[in-house]
Amino acid sequence: MAAAGLEARRLFFAVWPEESTRAALSALVRRLKPDIDGRWMPPETWHLTLAFLGSVEAERVAEARACGDAVRGEAGRLKLDRVEYWRRPDVLCLTSSLGSAALEGLAVSLADVLRRADFRLEKRPFKAHLTLARKLRRLPQELPQSEPVSWPYRSFGLVESVPADKGSCYQTLHTWPLAAGKLDGRG
Ligand code: ATP
Ligand code: MG
Repeated sequence: MAAAGLEARRLFFAVWPEESTRAALSALVRRLKPDIDGRWMPPETWHLTLAFLGSVEAERVAEARACGDAVRGEAGRLKLDRVEYWRRPDVLCLTSSLGSAALEGLAVSLADVLRRADFRLEKRPFKAHLTLARKLRRLPQELPQSEPVSWPYRSFGLVESVPADKGSCYQTLHTWPLAAGKLDGRG
C-alpha cells in the first residue's frame, strides 16, 4: 500500500478482449438486460483481471512493469459459459466452468513474480471472471444463461485504475504479447 502523503497509483494486470469477443459479449449483454437491472459496465471497461496490486507508490510503477517483463506466458482461449451473481461484491459476472490452463498459468506466474517484488496480492486463488454489472437492483431467481463466449487472448497489460465519477476508468500503461499457444480447447 502507498504510505499516506505519497502519490499513489492503483494498478492491476489484465487481459482485454479483441473486437470479435467484444461483439459476442455485447450480444450476450443485450440478451441479459431486459431481465436484469444494475450498473452495467461500459464495453470499453470489459476485462479479465489477472492480478490486482491495489494502491502503490508512484515510484513503484517501474517495478510493476519489470514484473510484467519477467513473465513468460502463452496465448490461449477462455470459454466463458456461466452467468453468476456474486452477493458480497454485488456483481454480475461471466465465468468459465473449464477455465484455461494458459491463463491460470499466467496469473500464477505473475503472482509469484509480484510477491517476490514485495507487492501484496489477494490470497484467494485466481478465478477468471468478467464483471458485467454492479450494484444489482433487479435480478431473476434463476439467472438467464446463454451461448458460451469464446475469448482468445494473445497479450496482457499493466493497467492503471483512475477514479472517476461513474466508476473507475482504466488506462493501459504497457502491453506484453504472449507466445503463440494452442488457442483452442482449454488453452
Ligand atoms: P471502483 O472500485 O472504482 O468501483 P473498479 O472495481 O472497476 O472500480 P478497481 O477497484 O481499481 O476498479 O479494480 C480494478 C480491477 O481489479 C477490477 O477488475 C476489480 O474487480 C479488480 N479488483 C479490485 N479489488 C480487488 C481485490 N481486492 N482483489 C482482486 N481483484 C480486485
Ligand atoms: Mg473496485
